[in-house]
Amino acid sequence: MIAGHARQQPDAPALTTGEQTLSYAQLDALIDRIAATLQRDGLTPGDTIAIDAFANNAYVALFMGALRAGLAVAPLAPSSTPAQIGTMTGDAGARHLFLDAPNAAAVPADITGHGVRRIRLDDSTDGDERLSDWLAPEGARPTPVTLGWTHPFNIIYSSGTTGTPKGIVHSHGLRWGQIRRAEAAGYGPGNVTLIATPLYSNTTLVVVIPTLARGGHLVMMSKFDTRGYLELAQKHRATHTMLVPVQYQRLMDYADFDRYDLSSFTFKACTSAPFNAALKAQVLQRWPGGLTEYYGMTEGGGSCILYCHLFPNKLHTVGQPAEGHEIRLIDEDGKELPREPELMGELVGRSPSMMMGYQNQPEKTREAEWFDAEGRRFIRTGDVGRFDADGFLILMDRRKDMVISGGFNIYPSDLEAELRQHPAVADVAVVGVPSKEWGETPVAFVVRKAGSTDDAESIRAWMNGRVGKTQRLHALRFIDELPRSAIGKILKRELRETYSET
Ligand code: ATP
Ligand code: MG
Repeated sequence: MIAGHARQQPDAPALTTGEQTLSYAQLDALIDRIAATLQRDGLTPGDTIAIDAFANNAYVALFMGALRAGLAVAPLAPSSTPAQIGTMTGDAGARHLFLDAPNAAAVPADITGHGVRRIRLDDSTDGDERLSDWLAPEGARPTPVTLGWTHPFNIIYSSGTTGTPKGIVHSHGLRWGQIRRAEAAGYGPGNVTLIATPLYSNTTLVVVIPTLARGGHLVMMSKFDTRGYLELAQKHRATHTMLVPVQYQRLMDYADFDRYDLSSFTFKACTSAPFNAALKAQVLQRWPGGLTEYYGMTEGGGSCILYCHLFPNKLHTVGQPAEGHEIRLIDEDGKELPREPELMGELVGRSPSMMMGYQNQPEKTREAEWFDAEGRRFIRTGDVGRFDADGFLILMDRRKDMVISGGFNIYPSDLEAELRQHPAVADVAVVGVPSKEWGETPVAFVVRKAGSTDDAESIRAWMNGRVGKTQRLHALRFIDELPRSAIGKILKRELRETYSET
């Protein structure tokens, strides 16, 4: 695919980070060179390389080079601890680990294991092998590989929102699914995709590969900041983007947002964490060019899509199952619920892009699987939700985040939505904490709006006056910022751990 664009539009820009741009011809040659080098090192389909770096041109070229050699890539979250990087590299069975400067400095060589070749993507010399020394001479060409549907394509470690990250193995079949997705979003030559999230999750892969497959221009920010993002969008006349909810929030809160000319956008996507309806409405109103929300999981067990601009009355939902994706509901015993509106249960999903399984964890894989009466395989999402009468999915909470208090199920998302109505509340997360009396009880962590003087007790009293007896908040604490992962997921696990009675 990239080779075709390199012939058709050799000088068209393919990748840009900062001041550096690679044209399609340059990118294609670099991908060839990387693929040839990996083959020189004896890596063949079934082998894996790992990358621990921030997004940039070299990262994407490396990713595509590994794919051209038919290998699997394990993109690791740069926010991981050194120990996690060591564990994930070993778990993925990576033979090579590519690092950039900050991550190489953070992860000592003895932690990444013996026999793992460490190569510096930023080409600096301190300790590790330099990319330019590792690479085969210019002009090197790989031997073409033939891939089967089940050859692993990537091993993505889940966000670890609810526990230790799991290595999710996808086959090359998924990649072809992603390329098909590109059609729906209108990627093509002349499109400019701007992204500002790390490349370790599915969220960006579904943007990076489609953009390049269709000959568009991918502009990357290694680290997001509101002003920088807006400057880049305007400078490059960006047409496509994918952001996580907290990035949309920061952009909407940025005082100068409305001064930028963002009229070039035709496709904006959002995924990975709850995106509240009021925020979606605000984005629609202030930022033209539509808004598409995806709900799904790295495991790929069924996604939903909400075209916010087409269904402005459904912003409280995550939309309807994508074509070819099936979502059902099961109860606590794993029994399928009737397909009726408003019935609440755990979502299980099935799609053509489902994972093959968790790396080295057959037990966890089995726990994640659910089979219907005909024996068809679904993946359990761990998310609880219900469909409305029109077939739109209303997502509640992760099963692990539900609070069971005195025998009643409390959905933190309900309480969060309520608390957001209070004028002093900028951001909020509700978690369950142990209670002698009730088993568990809900407490709220609130980020207060700048300038507001309401105290915690008054907000709690206001809230408790609006909800039923069983849903009352046991406590409300102010916090400067909610703990979030690198792609903006609220880490409720950490909030539960930090809570104390005093
Ligand atoms: P782990 O499985 O390690 O605990 P994780 O589930 O956060 O981490 P991902 O696969 O990155 O790892 O995220 C999938 C989850 O993210 C979904 O199960 C869901 O809870 C949440 N999610 C994804 N998209 C949306 C969305 N549009 N709205 C709300 N939540 C979403
Ligand atoms: Mg998960």
